[in-house]
Amino acid sequence: MSQTETVRSLRLHARGSLRLDTVQPLPCGPDEVRLKIAYCGICGSDIHEFLGAPIFSPGPGTKNEHTGIGLPVVMGHEMSGTITELGSNVKHLSVGQDVCVNPSLDDRHFGAKSCFSCEGGKTNLCKRWATYGLNASGGGFSDEIVVKDLNCLALPAGVSLKVGALAEPLAVAWHCIRTSGFKAGQSALVLGAGPIGLAILLLLRSWQAEKIFVTEVAEQRMERARQFGADVVINPLQPVSDRGGEGAEKNPVLSTIRESHPDGVDIAFDCSGLQSTLDTGIAAIKPGGTFFNVAIHEKPLQLNLNDIACLEKKLLGGICYLKEDFEQVLEAMASGKIPFEQMITSVVSLDNAIEGGFQSLMKDRAQHVKILIQP
Ligand SMILES: [Zn+2]
Repeated sequence: MSQTETVRSLRLHARGSLRLDTVQPLPCGPDEVRLKIAYCGICGSDIHEFLGAPIFSPGPGTKNEHTGIGLPVVMGHEMSGTITELGSNVKHLSVGQDVCVNPSLDDRHFGAKSCFSCEGGKTNLCKRWATYGLNASGGGFSDEIVVKDLNCLALPAGVSLKVGALAEPLAVAWHCIRTSGFKAGQSALVLGAGPIGLAILLLLRSWQAEKIFVTEVAEQRMERARQFGADVVINPLQPVSDRGGEGAEKNPVLSTIRESHPDGVDIAFDCSGLQSTLDTGIAAIKPGGTFFNVAIHEKPLQLNLNDIACLEKKLLGGICYLKEDFEQVLEAMASGKIPFEQMITSVVSLDNAIEGGFQSLMKDRAQHVKILIQP
């Protein structure tokens, strides 16, 4: 794309104010590449930044201390695209190549000395962590973006730009499964069948889970969890029948799990973040089992640590990925074994991103898994 053309970008100006603006293209530095965006998914965190109390985006009148970016910020961090320009130092990529973007920034982007986490290879925990699409320069809800070359991962043969846009949310799920210690042949409980819960469910199949239980209260999401390969889908609000008599387990999730797994499941992934999912998840795992939190919590929950200590249960959490998570997700995509495209429930144009994208997702949350914006 020539430098004289203008670019349409969906920018967050303030809480509740998202506008499609026309801006000038950014220069492409020596270690950067310019991408024509193909698709960019809307994340739950985008909705939260737009309408809730922002966690990641810069506050009014402030700038991110590492990137120097303040409002308005271009949103969108789940993107795929085609390279249209290469910086002079970029040798491992080529113009015309289809890529997905790992949107994370760390010490390497700022020329800073590696922090403790980066030194240990955990750039996702960098103390200077930032991300395109929330608090760095550029985002995926735009005609184009300029990113560092190290953020680009070439899409393997057979992986379309459309499916490639799912690499980021799937990398979240992959990282959580990997760091939970999950092993083939183990059983799992997924609490909540929203986009991340469903991504974990899909990937657990490729990790050869022995049995996957999913809890969900919305009928449409329960149905989708069945389509996505859950072995058992449980509505935690559905009362247990009385056949157990006095002293029988009254929690429908625990009661159902114990029919086939009397000691409990190996790992529970909490993708809801409620007091009830924390309590149920910890009770559902076997002695020595793992409760893994993937949810973002709006307020602190209560926990009786005796429930952890007495049966040597483990409490872990994670939310962000590493480059190898993207690489392994792309490999899983290229294998063709899992129909990841079933996660895409709608594709809308950039012009229609607010109404057809953000508002539609807020109105019919249970109906959608992933809405992609196509500039
Ligand atoms: Zn660091």
